[in-house]
Amino acid sequence: MAVGRASSESTGAADTGQSGTSHPGELPRMTKITGIRGMNDISPSQTPAWQMAEHAAREVLATYGYREVRPPIVERTELFRRSVGEGTDIVEKEMYTFTDRGGDSLTLRPECTASCVRAAIEHGWLREGGQRIWHIGPMFRYERPQKGRYRQFHQLDVECLGFPGPDVDAELMLILARLWRRLGLEGLELQINSLGSRPTQARYRELLVEYFQRNRDALDDDSQRRLTTNPLRILDSKNPEMQQIVADAPSILDHLDPAEAAHLDGIRAMLDQAGLAYSLNPRLVRGLDYYTSTVFEWVTNRLGAQNAVCGGGRYDGLVAEVGGGGQSAPAIGFALGMERLVALLEEASIEPPASAPDAYLVAVGDAAAGAAHALAERVRDALPELRLVVDAAPGGMRAKMKRADRSGARMALILGDDEVAARTVSLKPLRSDSQQSAVAWAELPVRLAAEE
Ligand code: ATP
Ligand code: MG
Repeated sequence: MAVGRASSESTGAADTGQSGTSHPGELPRMTKITGIRGMNDISPSQTPAWQMAEHAAREVLATYGYREVRPPIVERTELFRRSVGEGTDIVEKEMYTFTDRGGDSLTLRPECTASCVRAAIEHGWLREGGQRIWHIGPMFRYERPQKGRYRQFHQLDVECLGFPGPDVDAELMLILARLWRRLGLEGLELQINSLGSRPTQARYRELLVEYFQRNRDALDDDSQRRLTTNPLRILDSKNPEMQQIVADAPSILDHLDPAEAAHLDGIRAMLDQAGLAYSLNPRLVRGLDYYTSTVFEWVTNRLGAQNAVCGGGRYDGLVAEVGGGGQSAPAIGFALGMERLVALLEEASIEPPASAPDAYLVAVGDAAAGAAHALAERVRDALPELRLVVDAAPGGMRAKMKRADRSGARMALILGDDEVAARTVSLKPLRSDSQQSAVAWAELPVRLAAEE
């Protein structure tokens, strides 16, 4: 079990009861409660960039016929053991696993492909034919937090279930290229590889183990360990001292069977025809065991060490594995790291559309305070798109006007008791030199619409 320090901290905080009994890991009463390391609050100033990215993804996916799914964030631990794989970093040391009150072992999902596959099998979606689906949401891995690597992070997950490819393989890559274009992102590089089928992987693994055994002295500790648990992952080593030995290792591409090679050629031909540039990287393996055949990543040199924005591949054996063998189906998918995508937008100074209010209503005096919300509601009825903020903090005219200005609104609407008596409001432009003017309540929607 890999429930980390972080998760016991949070339980302690939440469980602080009236009884005064102490729980393991509980914070003393007078200590400020903070969030959990590696789990971020996305602040109001950051959400516009997230919404822009999510909105673009939703729109692009809809145009390709992909439909949203929303699986739960908790699954049976067994699902990830069986799919992601026992020998992977994720299952070995990164899962947030706990026993629920009924005694079942559950895990906060570290990724979402397994959930999509489980749901598709459970609800018989594949009986209706191939499924193109997607999901955005939080994932959880007990990793060492650093820039671009968190313990709760978000993925856009896209899955094509029931299609043998290679056309859908290329489609997924084209979708991502379109998303980058739509967001105005540059400098992302597509790398592709094929891992072959399970038998090919088994043969290749033997060759690789033989090669690394011969060069055992040059392997770092991590790779020595992986030699028995997950030798393909040695190719993925980030250790600079390992780069030469990895570069000289046998290439999987020399060991694909004819059908596997033809599948990869099919993808390449489609990418070439569509004019999408890529590079072939025979060292590209992925961190999850379920991949077979096609694997790909989009990488960038603009984010430092955490250079992979998106990774994916084919997992033709996973439906049978998750479903207990009752059914099998070819499938492919990818997961895009939303934190890294948002960081790229920031790095490229790609700003979301301004979200300042159009108008800011201040009311001074008892009668005005009483009338303000009713007037605002009438304006909202007439102009459903208008962003109208009603001032809500105490203070005099000066303080209120200061807040109106700080809100970024283009117009202030000023309501005093005199205005209420005359059933008017003073409209004051905040971003131009135009004069303040009195507007009758009945005329206000028309005037505001004209100011748009
Ligand atoms: P990495 O090599 O960076 O650890 P990975 O191979 O573990 O990535 P996947 O499990 O395939 O990544 O997830 C796909 C994408 O999700 C990654 O390309 C990355 O953008 C994002 N991602 C993965 N782990 C994290 C994390 N801990 N924090 C933020 N983003 C992450
Ligand atoms: Mg990882």
